[in-house]
Amino acid sequence: MKQEKNGTWVSWNGNLKYNFKEMYHISNEEELQEIVSSRDKIRFFGSKQSSADIAAGTDALINMTNYNKIVSYDYNQKTITVQSGLSLKELLEAIESVGWCIPCLPDINTITIGGALATGTHGTSGKLLCEYMTECRLVLADGSVKTVTKDDDLIDAVRVSLGMLGVMSTVTFQCEPSYTLHIKEGPESDKEWLPKIKSRLKKHDFLRILWLPHTNKGYVITGDKIDPNTKVHEDLGPKYLKHRRKASKILYKYTHIFPWLTAIANKLLYKGFFSTTKEHKGTLYQATVTKSRGSTLELAEWTIALDKFPQVFKELKTEINKWSNKSFIHIPMDVRFVYKDKSWLSYAYKQDTVTMGCVSRNAATADTYEAFKSIEKIFIKHGGRPHWGKRFKAKDTELSKIYPKWEAFKELRSELDPTNKFLNPYLAKLVNAKKLVNETA
Ligand SMILES: Cc1cc2nc3c(=O)[nH]c(=O)nc-3n(C[C@H](O)[C@H](O)[C@H](O)COP(=O)(O)OP(=O)(O)OC[C@H]3O[C@@H](n4cnc5c(N)ncnc54)[C@H](O)[C@@H]3O)c2cc1C
Repeated sequence: MKQEKNGTWVSWNGNLKYNFKEMYHISNEEELQEIVSSRDKIRFFGSKQSSADIAAGTDALINMTNYNKIVSYDYNQKTITVQSGLSLKELLEAIESVGWCIPCLPDINTITIGGALATGTHGTSGKLLCEYMTECRLVLADGSVKTVTKDDDLIDAVRVSLGMLGVMSTVTFQCEPSYTLHIKEGPESDKEWLPKIKSRLKKHDFLRILWLPHTNKGYVITGDKIDPNTKVHEDLGPKYLKHRRKASKILYKYTHIFPWLTAIANKLLYKGFFSTTKEHKGTLYQATVTKSRGSTLELAEWTIALDKFPQVFKELKTEINKWSNKSFIHIPMDVRFVYKDKSWLSYAYKQDTVTMGCVSRNAATADTYEAFKSIEKIFIKHGGRPHWGKRFKAKDTELSKIYPKWEAFKELRSELDPTNKFLNPYLAKLVNAKKLVNETA
């Protein structure tokens, strides 16, 4: 097993850095068990693409990315079993090649399966990715392996568990037959798209709205399942559209010094990149998932019950349009929809949910980005839940009010990890593990 000594762990956008004493690159389950059982403290990570401080911060670390094989296919059941360090890209390419899909995908393919599951990663018009997991082998704090299947009660706690209950080793996904979507995209005023959410969710197989703050506009993307042979007039707009992220980066360069510049930049970005329509077809993966990004960014995301969204949206819009505060928000705020489930720490626990992303294109100056604070204040007031892998300040007190199963999760965590082996300082504060919080205060 490859080992590194005394190095620095750095998250993908450079905002989180930790010195470590030992890092292990495991490539099989036995190595994973051995390292987990023999260390007092351990964290493990995938692609390091979380903004929340959940992946490192302990002297010993496990890099999961070499634990990345496809273990088996069950062609009758349409299931695939993979090692948890596999990238989502490789999983999705593998299942597409046999005519299958997972029907709700995030807008990123470089993350690992373990990382994606642990933080409740989601797409739109479906369920969290972890809801398609039917079985997982979990390496517990003592190094033993527990197999958790969709028929076990424990699965509801394990699906979204931030690597606090154990390390996911191999994971089985239930897939569905692949399908083709006819995608239509175009701008709409806030007055148009907001009241149509529920009817569109019924009508379309895919719905995503890129809200464009400070422009009164949203960019609506719908998808309808079609026969793959249906002729679609492909119109992807002018070639320069692919430079949107680069243009945003330039236009937002000084917005940390003059936040109001954002409002002007957004109007220009709307005119240049979001004011025309597009039409195309492809599988969910081909047609809707971003395959490469030229630069880093910093992210927050909040979620709210579908019924409460219009009110929260209006409040948020009023707040950020006040020029008296500095909460100007970069384009776009990604509005997506996830359907209710039973997972304890899921955003959609027992409620159909709207998720709303908030991006800072300047990762390095994200600490001064007022928008992250404003969005948290408004969503928390209405019982909104934060994305576990993204930036937020809420801790145990707030989380216990938002998640009905928070205390049950904490109890289970203490049972499965009585010595707090899997807690770094951030996670210790999150679950208020008193001993560790005091040690790290
Ligand atoms: C550009 C960008 C786009 C994104 N788009 C979306 C999106 O569309 N939808 C969405 O929901 N999220 C999105 N995210 C968030 C992202 O999906 C999560 O942060 C995800 O956790 C990152 O995966 P990773 O492999 O980088 O995990 P890491 O950041 O490395 O780790 C995340 C957590 O998972 C734990 N972990 C890692 N492996 C395992 C394992 N095997 N078992 C148990 N725990 C494990 C780690 O300890 C850590 O707590 C996006 C992030 C970025 C940067």
